[in-house]
Amino acid sequence: RLVSAEANPKESDCQELGIRPQTLEDYIGQKELKKILKIGIAAAQAREESLDHLLLYGPPGLGKTTMSLILASEMGVDCKITAAPALERPRDITGLLVSLKPGDMLFIDEIHRLNRMTEELLYPAMEDYRLDVTIGKGQSAKTRSIPLPRFTLIGATTKVGALTSPLRDRFGLIQRLRFYEVDELTIIVQRTAKILQTLITQEGAVEIARRSRGTPRIANRLLKRVRDYAQVEKVSTIDDKLANIALDVFDVDQKGLDWTDRLVLSTMVEQFGGGPVGLEAIAAATGEDSKTIEEVYEPYLLQIGYLNRTHRGRIVTPQAYEHLGYQGKLF
Ligand code: ATP
Repeated sequence: RLVSAEANPKESDCQELGIRPQTLEDYIGQKELKKILKIGIAAAQAREESLDHLLLYGPPGLGKTTMSLILASEMGVDCKITAAPALERPRDITGLLVSLKPGDMLFIDEIHRLNRMTEELLYPAMEDYRLDVTIGKGQSAKTRSIPLPRFTLIGATTKVGALTSPLRDRFGLIQRLRFYEVDELTIIVQRTAKILQTLITQEGAVEIARRSRGTPRIANRLLKRVRDYAQVEKVSTIDDKLANIALDVFDVDQKGLDWTDRLVLSTMVEQFGGGPVGLEAIAAATGEDSKTIEEVYEPYLLQIGYLNRTHRGRIVTPQAYEHLGYQGKLF
């Protein structure tokens, strides 16, 4: 799905690497976060210590991994990247921890999905830089403590509420990433276009930014598709007109909604009078899975104020009626 904020495994690493900002200066937006991290970096460097453990939370595609890599490079250390689903067995996390050098960073994506055993191994590692391992089984089992170098754990999650409090409490810094404004996304589109050696006008970049759902990953993806379109049409510079036509072809509308987003809204209007309507009823009427509606489609519709959630069910808002061209039908 073109407007999904999730990483697409088919988007190759080398494509990502080229456009991923490498320095704090290149990292557009998230001003508050950058301000706080700059203080943390300066203080840690002055004390010649590692950075405090950091928890980054917010929707996918907003730059959590990118920020972690930048932090490591600013601190002059290595960053090992992993994700909770890859840390199934205790030896997965112990292997990673013992391989860290002093000051290194360990980035764990989807940290809310850690299993209990792995999480419990992390507690003393984070707090006392110590790994407690049990050797042997049953009565003869012994616990041994292995000292670890000071390191920084960076946890990333889309669901901060799903973290256990003992884990959350062990992070010295807990920071939220926000959706980006259109002017910030415009700069990101222009920067990526430059790296991809694609000519784009300011208006063309704004047009793509506006449809990117506040998310850099989507902005970069839409730019690549518009660039394909320009190439096939033999147009050398992307302007707003071309971006508009191309994104219409790819069925991404002015607000960044795709066919399914619009289906969800229009079904609610046409079959349920705009709501309130329950999630299961919407799922049955659209033929989409209720979890997918809740986790994939709904967050953005809620964020832009096209949907409201009430205790009686979901309601379509007047803004959504207007966007879908239902003005006459409203209430
Ligand atoms: P996920 O949680 O899904 O892994 P994420 O929050 O870690 O997502 P990243 O992989 O860091 O997101 O970012 C997605 C893409 O968006 C990257 O390729 C990066 O180039 C771009 N990007 C993210 N944030 C910024 C930014 N602030 N400035 C410029 N480009 C950015």
